[in-house]
Amino acid sequence: MDKRTFIKSAVLGVAGVFVLSFKSKLKAASLRNSWDGIYRLPVLPYSFNSLEPWFDESSLKIHYHQHHASYTKNLNDLAKSQGFKGTSAFKILRNSSKYSDLVIQQAGGYFNHNVFWRSISDKRSKPSEEFIAAIDRDFGSFDALKESFYKETGSVFGSGWTWLILDQSGKLRITSTQNNDNPAMENAQKKGMPLLCIDLWEHAYYMKNRNVRSDYVSAYWNVVSWEKVSHRYHVLKNKKSVI
Ligand code: MN
Repeated sequence: MDKRTFIKSAVLGVAGVFVLSFKSKLKAASLRNSWDGIYRLPVLPYSFNSLEPWFDESSLKIHYHQHHASYTKNLNDLAKSQGFKGTSAFKILRNSSKYSDLVIQQAGGYFNHNVFWRSISDKRSKPSEEFIAAIDRDFGSFDALKESFYKETGSVFGSGWTWLILDQSGKLRITSTQNNDNPAMENAQKKGMPLLCIDLWEHAYYMKNRNVRSDYVSAYWNVVSWEKVSHRYHVLKNKKSVI
């Protein structure tokens, strides 16, 4: 497989994982062929009040209908005015050096929120055995992963995101990005495919947790969809080289 084909399949692959995690009836192949180039807010498979008491309804509504919707609109507007309509947000991030900071901010804002919504669920679930084995291998234990992730969020100054990623060598790693950057970007400090993320912008938690961001991070662990994250890991792992 040449580099170009490989990158294309990796990009389509991750898009497919997110689509499939929504149990879409459409096959990923037919969906990508039929995409009309318009970025849309994802349909959430849970209601805004179903993550209570961990995440409150008001914050989620504003987060989705105002913040994420705004990135979605801005990215569509930019795609039209700058002529990149039909390019997936993830592909833009993967080729970040070809785009302006403004486009990256909006593409990251759009894409990162999609990962965030798909990282959480109102249904409690456990990591798959395969994923647990990878966590044990790379972190020592599930608790060590949580501890490491928690510490990483504390190191983010200002707005940003903390991620669990699958890196080039197939290893699970924790990393953070500033503003709306993504670990798949060319200049990422730790590069990899996103498995889950937490939004650390104040708008994500300030209404409920005020300035105590650590309470929000603790709450997050109660709503992580390990089922979806395990599935994403399974699909990406079987692609062998993922980025
Ligand atoms: Mn946000």
